This record gives sequence, C-alpha cells and structure tokens, in this order.
Amino acid sequence: MAGVYIHIPFCRQACHYCNFHFSVSLRKRNDFLECLLAEMEMRHNFFGNSSDDLQKSPIQSVYLGGGTPSLLGTDELNQIFEGVSKYFAISPNAEITIEANPDDLTFESLSALRQTPVNRLSIGVQSFHHSDLLFMNRAHTPAQAISAIENAKECGFQNLTIDLIYGTPTLSDSQWIDNLRRTLDLGVEHISAYALTVEPRTALDVLIRKGKAAPVDEEQTAMQFEIMVEILESKGYMHYEISNFALPGKFSQHNLSYWIGEPYLGLGPSAHSFHQNRRSWNIANTAAYIQSIRNGILPLESENLTLTQRYDEYLMTSLRTMWGCSLQKIEQQWGSEKMKELKGQCKPFLENGLMVETDHYLILTKKGRLFADRIASDLFWV
Ligand code: SF4
Repeated sequence: MAGVYIHIPFCRQACHYCNFHFSVSLRKRNDFLECLLAEMEMRHNFFGNSSDDLQKSPIQSVYLGGGTPSLLGTDELNQIFEGVSKYFAISPNAEITIEANPDDLTFESLSALRQTPVNRLSIGVQSFHHSDLLFMNRAHTPAQAISAIENAKECGFQNLTIDLIYGTPTLSDSQWIDNLRRTLDLGVEHISAYALTVEPRTALDVLIRKGKAAPVDEEQTAMQFEIMVEILESKGYMHYEISNFALPGKFSQHNLSYWIGEPYLGLGPSAHSFHQNRRSWNIANTAAYIQSIRNGILPLESENLTLTQRYDEYLMTSLRTMWGCSLQKIEQQWGSEKMKELKGQCKPFLENGLMVETDHYLILTKKGRLFADRIASDLFWV
C-alpha cells in the first residue's frame, strides 16, 4: 500500500484560509521541476533498495497535491510521471490522483489530461455559492465548478472526488444542503468535506482579528456536519473517515495508506514522508529546496517516532475511520496493560453512546464522530 506524494508549490491566487506551502508566482516552475526529478533520483531507494523489496511491494498510489498541480501542462505532468516510473516500482493498478482547480479544467485540458497516467481527479470545488467562494477568495465561479465536473465525466474520468468546505460564515444551512444536493446530482464518487478552520497567520485569521470577517460559529459547523452525514449516508455514501465519504469501492487508496500507517514518500517542498517509524519533512520554501537539491543535499529534517507518539498517532487516525481502533493491535504493539487501561479510559464514552466496542474494535458512533479529535486526545498516552 506504499504511496508517493508530490507537492506542486504553485497557485493562481491565495485562498484566504490556506496555510499550505505555495507561491502565486510561477517563475521557479522550471527550476522546481528539474529539482523534483533530481530528488526522485536521490531518494529512489526510500522504500528499500533491492529489486526484491520493490517487487514485493510496488507503489499503489501516486498523489499530486499542492498547491495546484493542474496549473502544470501535460508535458510537465508527463515528465513527473516518467520520473516516478523510472525511479520507483509502480503497480500497474496504482491510483494516480491529481488535485485540480475548476478554473483549469476546460474540456480541452481534461481531454489532454486523459492522455496522462492520471486516473483520479480531485477537484477543489469548496462551494457552489458565489458569496461563499468570494469569502474564501477562490479563483473560480460556481458555473466553472459544475462544468469542470461535467467535462471530466464526459472526458471519461470515472473516479472523481471533490473538496467541499462547510462552516463558513457565508454559508447558511440551506445553502449547505444545496451544495450537497448539487454534488449528489453531479454523481461524484467521493467527497472530502472539511470544516473551515482558521489557521494562524492566514489572511482569514487577520480578517477576523480586524473584525472584517465573522468568526467561525462552532455550533453552526457542528450542525452542518450532522446535516452532511445524514444526507450523504442516506444516498449510499460511506462515511469512512471523518472528512471523507465514498461510494462502495471508491475509497481513496492514497489517504488510506496514511491512515493505516503504510509507508509514503513525499517529494517537493514541504512534503512529508514516513517509513519504518521514521518521519521526515522537506523544507517549506521552494527557493531553499531548489538550492539544496542543486547542492546535492536533501532539504529535510527527520525524527524517529517514540512508542508514545506512535500510540497517539494510531489512536488519532484510527478513531477517525469507520473501522476504528483495534484493541488487538494495541495489545500486540503496546502491551496488554495498555490495552486494559485504554478500555478503562473508554468507559465513559461507551456509556454515553459516543463509542461502541465491536469485535475488539473501538468505533465512534454517529454522535461520537462529532467529537473525534477531542475523544482521541483524551485517550492519549499521558
Ligand atoms: S488553491 Fe489550494 S493550495 Fe492554493 S491557495 Fe487555494 S487552498 Fe491553498
């Protein structure tokens, strides 16, 4: 289930809520591409260096995120995919996803994209309401979002996911229901829906502190989460992770590898990697990334995860999924005393209907999913 993530650090315009690493200048685009390919070569044995290792566990997913990968032309994307295939063993059935913004997805660009190895599109829709898109400072219109999805289907993409954001002060409950209905009408297979969060030092953070934007209303956000779960589950979408819904068989293979602790390699500025209890992260600065790679030095820092860090991380990620936290795994990796202690800590959540224990798995209920992060942090190793 190993995966490769590639960070493309360019965007057309800065969304107010965003704290990812990107630049709105494309000046360094060629230098970045040259260095991305060089980084692939430098890290070609990340997953193991014998051909045996590679045969045994070929890469199951490649994910181009960012930033806005759809700003790149198909020639550039093909260069990236050729590099990935040259330096890593990619499974013939690998899920190959690219994040794309609606304003880049014309019928022509989508037809060209079909000629690349991309077999899954992740479209950053966020909302079908103009006032909401303006609030977020998105670069596209509702009409562009709709035609991007329709065009993608017409061009033959059969595995589409869209991103939506709820909890914005400009989104009423009825508009949120409308966003979900339109999504269903458009027939996308997978939906990632995120509650608006105000990250420090983003434009949104500044606007709120200056009183130029309304703060996030947590009650409204919780209400919209419940509305979403109700509507999407009633239409057959599986709520397989707190922020992710999919029709059967359409789970994101790439994200699953993060959640179940499989190794992944992150390439490009700010990308994170994980392998054999070691995580590393590339510098979140494109100029410094380029300079370092050109000097033959990987621009990364790393740390070995301690036993307690791994425990907390497992709890946090597993409780967010519909499969829940395996008590057997806890016992095997952290000992039977720890497993018993965890069961004791979970008692109040089980009694309050926030969690159930089924076949040695602790699983959050519909009500519990509302408090997933809080419950997980209450259970952290002390
Ligand atoms: S397009 Fe995506 S990465 Fe770029 S600024 Fe907007 S949210 Fe951030």
